Amino acid sequence: MISSFMSYNFFQTPIEYLKGVGPKRADLLRKELNIHVFQDLLLYYPYRYIDRSKFFKVREIASDAAYIQLRGFITNVEVVGEKRGRRLRAQFKDESGSIELVWFQGIKWIQDKFKPNTEYIVFGKPSLFNNKYNIAHPEVEPVVESELAVGETLQPFYHTTEKLKSKGLGNKSFGKITKTLILKAQGEVRENLSAEILQKLKLISREEALLNIHFPKNSQILSKAQARLKFEELFFIQLEMLRHKLQRNQKIKGHIFSTVGENLNRFYKEKLPFELTNAQKRVIKEIRLDMGSGIQMNRMLQGDVGSGKTLVALMNMLIATDNGYQVCLMAPTEVLANQHFKTITNLLQGLPVQTNLLTGSTKTAQRKIIHQNLLNGELQILIGTHALIEETVQFKNLGFVVIDEQHRFGVAQRAKLWKKNTTPPHILVMTATPIPRTLAMTFYGDLDFSVIDELPPGRKPIQTYHYFDSKRLKLFGFLKSQIKLGRQIYIVYPLIQESEKLDLKDLQDGYESISREFPLPDYAVSIVHGKMKSANKDYEMQRFIKGETQIMVSTTVIEVGIDVSNASVMVIENAERFGLSQLHQLRGRVGRGADQSYCILMTDYKLTNEGKKRMETMVRTNDGFEIAEVDLRLRGPGDLQGTQQSGVIDLRIANLIKDEKILKYARDLANQLLDDDPEISKTENKPIKKYLIQTFKNKQNWGSIS
Ligand code: ADP
Ligand code: MG
Repeated sequence: MISSFMSYNFFQTPIEYLKGVGPKRADLLRKELNIHVFQDLLLYYPYRYIDRSKFFKVREIASDAAYIQLRGFITNVEVVGEKRGRRLRAQFKDESGSIELVWFQGIKWIQDKFKPNTEYIVFGKPSLFNNKYNIAHPEVEPVVESELAVGETLQPFYHTTEKLKSKGLGNKSFGKITKTLILKAQGEVRENLSAEILQKLKLISREEALLNIHFPKNSQILSKAQARLKFEELFFIQLEMLRHKLQRNQKIKGHIFSTVGENLNRFYKEKLPFELTNAQKRVIKEIRLDMGSGIQMNRMLQGDVGSGKTLVALMNMLIATDNGYQVCLMAPTEVLANQHFKTITNLLQGLPVQTNLLTGSTKTAQRKIIHQNLLNGELQILIGTHALIEETVQFKNLGFVVIDEQHRFGVAQRAKLWKKNTTPPHILVMTATPIPRTLAMTFYGDLDFSVIDELPPGRKPIQTYHYFDSKRLKLFGFLKSQIKLGRQIYIVYPLIQESEKLDLKDLQDGYESISREFPLPDYAVSIVHGKMKSANKDYEMQRFIKGETQIMVSTTVIEVGIDVSNASVMVIENAERFGLSQLHQLRGRVGRGADQSYCILMTDYKLTNEGKKRMETMVRTNDGFEIAEVDLRLRGPGDLQGTQQSGVIDLRIANLIKDEKILKYARDLANQLLDDDPEISKTENKPIKKYLIQTFKNKQNWGSIS
């Protein structure tokens, strides 16, 4: 065999050929951890390291801040408690004292592990419980003298699964096979950064970094390895996105909207119901310039709930119609699409702009007319739900697409709108989920951004309170006093897919008890949920909008976009079951008029720490960006609304919160590189190009995110 061929393929070797793995374990590694070839294992970094040279004594435990390592014996292993309180308890003793260990899960499996008279190493995080320290779910391993204090003192810890552990691939064996691989890989690892970048940032080589990320010789070199690999990870993501944007701008022409015509002018003079905020003016201009530039626009418009994004979109939509193009506006729910349609037709009354609505419940006959008028160009503005992206919907000349609450759509759905014209339309995606800067740079790095950072004048900050269920009577009293003032109220119940039936029952029960508390004829209560027929939903919404009902009991179908300015109280039941950004969205349904508005978060007494933090955050601040930052810290980017569906990036090592600085370096250097060498074809950048192509060849087309 030719040796260069060997080395080229080394990292693509199936994992079962690694010594100590074999077909059975390989199968598990594939299924459990998505490790298929050598490279996957090499890039499966440890999540933690323990300083094996350092042992704590039980007596020394004085805070619950850090993970520690203890050495001693385990006694009195017993199962206590019942049902949800059932747990495994054991005493751990060293010569200085003893501490309780406790497990709530995997009881049977752990219990069988302990042998008497065996010395163990216990690793975990002590916490204070009833004034005594204990360690919940510690890692426990028998002391093997020969493994202590030989070679590296920092031992890597890998995330493994129960299944892998039970097949002998626990942390220790994991370390072993990784070590085998690292030794084999010496001399095979290719550098993927240019000498210039390595020098500029004083980074260690890729080979050294990979060796030391798994088996660090000391903590200094470990930090260097981490810095190098984090940079590399973020750099290539940034480079790929920026390169994609560059190519798109070079290849794809944009429709040029050169004039501001009659529609916009008349709207501005005759119809605009209020003065635009400065932020709205600025953003409208940013978008207008983009759409006149000859380059296809891909822009994200961020603005907190209630900041007036719809109007910004509408004014830019009118520019498109003024230039002879068609426009569509897509919303994630039928309720919201209906509302947009009504608002917009109202605002455009008397102007020569033809507008229509297309949703899942549009009747066939009506649909036919819409299809026809789209093709002959008479229909200028089409508003709707994802029904808009169906194949059968064809435009004569689509020039501009607006996607409201874009995080509710999948990448593929959005991409389809690109194809509705031979030259793709300009795209504006709008979101009220503020995205922290680091996230925006990482997930949407190839989009341009506009931000409305100002609310319309005269809004009073919403007052938010957290009540336990016991305060329900007080709540009812308060609601009655608000209704007396002529205000309207939302009461929202959670609806989670897995237990939909139970949730609907909660909603129904809630509706009945509210109807009892607020009886006819003095009061009228509406109910709306996702399982209702669309016509009924709309009917109930309209009753509420017209003020015929004072209370709207609903699930989160009203979460996004709904705009009823007379509604001034938002009650959220089981608020602990909602994520922060969802709570913020819901709260944003009120505070839209000039009245003082309120948001009341109802919860049970029992709250997790995270739940408490969420309630505190909501009570403390109305600032969507601040809330998004807290959310990011609490949940990590994976769960953050607005990024779930982008699903393009899995970070192995970089952390978007802690590594903001590195991210900035990565973006700057990627920009510099492309300025200097747009095709990445210079000799010194060859390693970069090669790695980039290898890494991203199977990934989703980033530009289609918009
Ligand atoms: P969001 O950005 O959450 O989509 P909307 O577009 O629904 O916000 O606007 C919220 C409310 O504020 C609407 O009732 C809208 O008519 C009103 N509004 C928008 N712009 C202004 C403005 N410049 N001055 C006063 N009210 C405005
Ligand atoms: Mg909106």
